[in-house]
Amino acid sequence: MKKLYILAIITIFFTSLFALNQVDNFKVWDTGQEGVYRITLDCKESPDIKELNSGSKKYLILNIKDSIFKKSSESFRMKHHGIEYFKLVQFDKKTVRLVAKITKEYQTKFLIMQKNSSFPYRIIIDYKQKDIACDIATGLPTIVIDPGHGGKDSGAIGTKGTYEKDIVLDIAKQLEKKLWQSGRVNPVLTREDDTFVGLRNRVSLTENKNAVLFLSIHNNAEPTGRARGYRVYVLDENGKSGKTHDIVASAENKSFEMFEDINDVKKMDKNVLGILADIKLNQTIAKSMRLGNLVIDSFKNEFSNVDIEIRRAPFHVLKLAGIPGVLFEAGFITNKYDERLLKNVFYREKVAEVLKRSIMSYLTDNKLIACELESNNLPEYYKVKPGDTLIHIAKRFSIDLKKLQKVNNIENPSRIMVGMKLRIVE
Ligand SMILES: [Zn+2]
Repeated sequence: MKKLYILAIITIFFTSLFALNQVDNFKVWDTGQEGVYRITLDCKESPDIKELNSGSKKYLILNIKDSIFKKSSESFRMKHHGIEYFKLVQFDKKTVRLVAKITKEYQTKFLIMQKNSSFPYRIIIDYKQKDIACDIATGLPTIVIDPGHGGKDSGAIGTKGTYEKDIVLDIAKQLEKKLWQSGRVNPVLTREDDTFVGLRNRVSLTENKNAVLFLSIHNNAEPTGRARGYRVYVLDENGKSGKTHDIVASAENKSFEMFEDINDVKKMDKNVLGILADIKLNQTIAKSMRLGNLVIDSFKNEFSNVDIEIRRAPFHVLKLAGIPGVLFEAGFITNKYDERLLKNVFYREKVAEVLKRSIMSYLTDNKLIACELESNNLPEYYKVKPGDTLIHIAKRFSIDLKKLQKVNNIENPSRIMVGMKLRIVE
């Protein structure tokens, strides 16, 4: 009896030990890019990773649950580009912890590679230093405005034959102009005319521009023609399951972006064999919710009895690494009253004005203000924005007006056009 008892204890001990996932092969890779690090870890079993939000700005912490690290502790000193060290430790009996001590803001992304015949499970973690949130050409924070659809993709079609792609492009352009005239932001459109832009390109443009905010503009659609009003969508982090109630109810469900979303996930599973996760997602969603609520407040202030609400949905276009964003459905194009309003240019201007106000409140709340332009950091080109004059552009970059004219072969300084590319440095 006693023997059996001991055997049972030993069995339990070993089972629990062997049930733990073994983590090893801790490596820090030089990516060759300043402020970008990659860490890899190998695991016997599929790892369960959680980001720990310590509230501290000095450490980035990742926990690998039910795991064991045989060396118990290993660290790499970095001492440059804002990272002091990376450390992998056995935090408690069942948790392996990866700690990065940082002195500058970093964002992290991780990916789990599934095991195959030659490799075990591999965790890849990328640390990328957050750049200054300012566009170098203007010294202003960039906001990406995304008019939905375009070209072959008309979006929803109204009862009077109005195309969503045309309505949203006009609202976006009016918003761009208003934002630029505020002098506080650098607005960028994902499309400036009736052309088709894929969702991946919209996302990569926003990420490459290092935008502080993303706003996608759409019109809603619904088969009975009865639904009216505005909807503000914020990304649902559980979106991959596709089980979100909202998305079933939403008319946008049928739209092109949802199909692309599903295919995208499928493609990713096949090619990367992993799960890509933005581990800062929760913070980004909280910011997106704040922006969404500001949009709602601004619309309620402007229009009495306005039907507007915030919802969560797994829109692909909102899956932006660390960039807060909302998808705004400006009315139901399938409702005859909403459609009539949307066809009115003054109404669209009012919608753009209210959106501008929401964005301005967000920027103020988050202290997102213009950066100092560094004179030795002049851009090669500058694209003329609505409301620009050549004199202002010359002043902005502290260059001689005559020189600017000469370099760009402009005889009459009043003859510049929006979208025109000007050479700034010789
Ligand atoms: Zn749409």
